[in-house]
Amino acid sequence: MKEFERIYLSSPHMSDEGYEQEYVKEAFDTNWVAPLGKNVDGFEQELADYVGIDHAAALSSGTSAIHLALKAVGVTEGDIVFCQSLTFSATANPIIYVGATPVFIDSDRKTWNMDPRALKKAFEKYTPKAVLVVHLYGQSADLDEIKALCDEHNVALIEDAAESLGTLYKGKHTGTIGDYGIFSFNGNKIITTSGGGMLVSNNEEKIKKTRFWATQSRDQARHYQHSEIGYNYRMSNIVAGIGRGQLKVLDDRVEKKRQIFSLYKEYLGELDGVVFPNENEFEYSNHWLSPMLVTKHVTPIEIMEALEKEDIESRPIWKPMHLQPVFSSYDYVGGNVSEELFNQGICLPSDTKMSVEQQMRVINIIKEVFGEKDL
Ligand SMILES: *Cc1c(COP(=O)(O)O)cnc(C)c1O
Repeated sequence: MKEFERIYLSSPHMSDEGYEQEYVKEAFDTNWVAPLGKNVDGFEQELADYVGIDHAAALSSGTSAIHLALKAVGVTEGDIVFCQSLTFSATANPIIYVGATPVFIDSDRKTWNMDPRALKKAFEKYTPKAVLVVHLYGQSADLDEIKALCDEHNVALIEDAAESLGTLYKGKHTGTIGDYGIFSFNGNKIITTSGGGMLVSNNEEKIKKTRFWATQSRDQARHYQHSEIGYNYRMSNIVAGIGRGQLKVLDDRVEKKRQIFSLYKEYLGELDGVVFPNENEFEYSNHWLSPMLVTKHVTPIEIMEALEKEDIESRPIWKPMHLQPVFSSYDYVGGNVSEELFNQGICLPSDTKMSVEQQMRVINIIKEVFGEKDL
């Protein structure tokens, strides 16, 4: 027996009540094990109601939701898409799937997300078809400024809210403010279906079209007829059942994630060389992960190694897309903020199953790493 259990970055956390299994059981009992069914419709409706939007399409992943959002906007070969550089590659890959060209945009220290000033500069240089903004780690981007620029240039705004389900921007849910929003239910997200995603919009016609594309673009005909290229991107009724159960505990998860962030900030925020992200006046963050910056005395790698020795998981900040070998040939607009955040940042364990005692262990290990440096 190990003295301590492993502490995870962010692991799946099913409800204590077993809501997920009830929905899944019902799907089995009624033999709606195939894609489509009551859970898919229910999950779409319940998620749309939760975030306050008219329409939602349940899909197989957040990545497929971004892909179909780009298609819904009409992004196609040769088009340009402005994309936040500091993000997970899943944000940017679908730009390539549709044959478009990404131009990467730097982050703002204030939000860690797309810098409106860099976006403005990019608009002076290019005419894009869409802008893809991310709400990293649950922190909201400065949406009013970004949306104003998009409106001025008549360009669609897509919000990658994969990490920010439950985050509010000026009282509205992230993902519902741009023309399209996407959510992910991958294993490490704030709620999970084991894998899945959702595309949301107030545009009913486009969401209907998304469901059509996601089920192989089958025309209304007795035989199999296709006038467009289709995809096998629909969420299954089993998976959607897990999602319906998880939605019931989403508020609890947000609350716990916020407590985790506060505790880190309380105990580590005072250390010389530690900087936590802002909680800006316009947002209510779900704090999916608690990241911090280490600007002196120690390096993020030293902290990660000290934690790993104690069987505690942590990880670096996403490596910016403009620094990725696969995207090195594309343009980048901005300074070195995203690169600095990457170099100085670390994501601390933010698992909602983590107890306060476990979190205090994490905090003390980090303090020790600083202590050894003879402050
Ligand atoms: C997880 C994630 C995605 C992709 O979601 P999947 O469901 O894993 O395809 C996209 N963007 C960001 C920022 C993410 O964190």
